[in-house]
Amino acid sequence: MVGYTLGGGLGPLGRRYGYAADLVTRIEIVTADGALRQVTRDRHPDLFWALRGGKGNFGIVTRLRFGLVPVRRLYGGGLRFPGEQAGRVLDAWRWWTATAPEEMTSSVALLRLPDAPDVPELLRGRLTAHVRIAFTGGAEEGERLVRPLRASGTALADTVAEMPYAEVADIHQDPTHPLPYHERNIVLRELSADALDTLLRVAGAGSSCGDLMVELRHLGGALLRPAEVPNAVGARDGAYTLATLSPPGTPDAVLRAMEPWGTGRRYLNFLAGEDTAGAAEECFDPGTVARLARVKAEFDPGNVFRLNHNIAPRA
Ligand SMILES: Cc1cc2nc3c(=O)[nH]c(=O)nc-3n(C[C@H](O)[C@H](O)[C@H](O)COP(=O)(O)OP(=O)(O)OC[C@H]3O[C@@H](n4cnc5c(N)ncnc54)[C@H](O)[C@@H]3O)c2cc1C
Repeated sequence: MVGYTLGGGLGPLGRRYGYAADLVTRIEIVTADGALRQVTRDRHPDLFWALRGGKGNFGIVTRLRFGLVPVRRLYGGGLRFPGEQAGRVLDAWRWWTATAPEEMTSSVALLRLPDAPDVPELLRGRLTAHVRIAFTGGAEEGERLVRPLRASGTALADTVAEMPYAEVADIHQDPTHPLPYHERNIVLRELSADALDTLLRVAGAGSSCGDLMVELRHLGGALLRPAEVPNAVGARDGAYTLATLSPPGTPDAVLRAMEPWGTGRRYLNFLAGEDTAGAAEECFDPGTVARLARVKAEFDPGNVFRLNHNIAPRA
């Protein structure tokens, strides 16, 4: 909860409600000098700005308070297509995201899972395209909106339906047990036809892609707007995130090929692994990096909190 929220927090309803960090109203933290501080928009406002987006650089957070939003149900789930249909599915999704309302948050993951007994049979040893849907509007409207995606291929599984919010984790079906992986990402400014052709060449069926997952998330909506109390969350100017999840040592071929469509930024929470340790400053514009470094110099001048995606203190 804490790392996720301090790094932004790109959740399944992000386009409707923004980043998790946008909803934080109070933070209790132990700073490098050992002081326990209560941080709000009025108390240590610079630290309040920096903590929401700048992640673990400023101390140990011991309590978070959120402003909640009233969501009891949604229309959501996943459509799984065979990897050979990934081109059609991604092309349909690319067009569809251009007009999707803010109440609709979606993503697509190309999953290439090993032929291993703990992998669900449907996914074992094959490439699949998983379209994830979370719509906070009515089920009938949701069904109408999702129709073109359903028609884009022959789904192996379709779990998109009315659901209680409490089951929201079923949409992505992330593993709940620890796995050794590296995660890297770039933020894309667009997903043009050329960009999609390139992505399919390096990550689609028949490619030599070594990543377990190549994932696109649709940004926009509330994810583009500053929080009500502005914060340091950095990936606000892009149209999609493109992330790869890989066994350590896998070449960074997919993101390199896609760089021409990148904004030059990365999303902090989708960085994991030693080779991403120096990438924190690539997650923010230069003005935000300079301001984070000044707040760091005030609250952690000796860089006590450095075993993280580090922002070094600078006066
Ligand atoms: C299966 C899976 C799915 C994910 N899905 C998403 C997603 O949908 N959206 C998204 O945004 N991210 C997602 N992430 C990434 C996740 O947000 C990051 O891995 C995050 O760093 C996890 O934080 P943690 O506190 O659980 O982990 P930890 O490994 O405990 O902490 C990671 C870092 O967070 C900071 N941190 C943690 N606790 C504190 C604290 N108490 N005080 C100060 N700093 C702290 C520190 O910098 C620490 O090094 C996912 C990760 C996994 C494994």
